Amino acid sequence: MFFVEQKNPNSEGLNYTVTKNEEKMGMHGSFTCVITYENTLAHLIGKEGEGFKYMLHLMNEARIAVGMQGLGGIESALDHAVSYAKERVQFGKPIAELPLLKRYLSDYETERDAIRALLFDTISYYDQFQFLDLKKKKTNDLTAEEEKQFKFVSMWTRKRTPLVKYYACEKYTELSTKAIQILGGYGFMQEYPLERIHRDSFGPLLYEGTSQIQALMALKDLVKQAVKDPRRFMASIFTKHAGLGLIAGKSSSQVEFQKVQYRFKKKMVKLIIITLKPEGSRLLNPKAWQSEENISQLMIHAETLCQALCYTETLRVLAKHADLDSNRVDLFNRYSLLVRPRLEAIYSDWELRS
Ligand SMILES: Cc1cc2nc3c(=O)[nH]c(=O)nc-3n(C[C@H](O)[C@H](O)[C@H](O)COP(=O)(O)OP(=O)(O)OC[C@H]3O[C@@H](n4cnc5c(N)ncnc54)[C@H](O)[C@@H]3O)c2cc1C
Repeated sequence: MFFVEQKNPNSEGLNYTVTKNEEKMGMHGSFTCVITYENTLAHLIGKEGEGFKYMLHLMNEARIAVGMQGLGGIESALDHAVSYAKERVQFGKPIAELPLLKRYLSDYETERDAIRALLFDTISYYDQFQFLDLKKKKTNDLTAEEEKQFKFVSMWTRKRTPLVKYYACEKYTELSTKAIQILGGYGFMQEYPLERIHRDSFGPLLYEGTSQIQALMALKDLVKQAVKDPRRFMASIFTKHAGLGLIAGKSSSQVEFQKVQYRFKKKMVKLIIITLKPEGSRLLNPKAWQSEENISQLMIHAETLCQALCYTETLRVLAKHADLDSNRVDLFNRYSLLVRPRLEAIYSDWELRS
């Protein structure tokens, strides 16, 4: 990894060439250029040969940041849609009060708040990960407790990073489309900022790894777990069964979350077994799972698996919030109502296509 100064002290002019300024469909406030480095003076950052590792670290952080950008876009689009819907009168009342649009706006608000909760929860893991990672690198001296915490927050940061990038950015594009529709014809006009907000939403969908790449990352982690230790993977699912007494004394939100999670895991294991086809007698043998061809078969489900993970992880966070603050129970219930039919549609898709 290199640091390039703008000026080369040994020669006139810039230290690199801006070869092309890209004309984009949106994000006109930010230049996107092709840069050519020829006879460029550069300073090595860190250790030689470690650049790719640094880049991955940078990219992971950037993915969470782009997720935040997605949330910002969702909030902005919703604000414009709500204020317009409250003012615009059709059929004798503000369109915000027409049943169908009321549902749009309510579902929109639910998903915005839920995505915000998922992002903040993920950032709090990432924050702890950063702190302990730096401490470890600087002093190589973490206490046993810190080491345990480091492993825990690393695992959650890794698991959640592709999800927050995928979920917030996909919803930015999808919900800004709906927001345009709420403005009717004005949604299409440049007089209102929604068409710009929607055009801008395509950048975050693509950079720092496209949605499809995020979905593959999420799938890779799952398959790795399953293939590495099928016995443990299976056990981790079946111990989640709501009937095993684990839910005794838990809040209604936790019980609901656990039911949704158990159903998801059951369906996911079925999908993995059907697609990876380990022979029945060798089900618990890691080697039985590792066919390239079968893994490719599973990959066609990467995006729906990623979506299901986004919904269940968000529900996990909202159940935790509901336990901490009774005012958050309503959001948990609304979000559960929103995503349970989506999860069922995903399970039908898995059954029909495998
Ligand atoms: C506004 C903007 C700013 C950018 N800024 C920067 C920057 O500052 N620095 C920089 O380095 N880059 C930058 N990029 C580039 C950006 O990171 C890439 O465009 C992006 O990562 C996608 O790569 P690609 O264009 O090569 O698409 P491709 O990799 O060719 O992908 C094309 C399609 O194939 C899909 N695809 C690819 N591989 C797989 C797979 N294995 N499985 C399933 N689907 C797959 C993709 O999801 C996509 O749908 C920027 C892009 C944009 C739009």
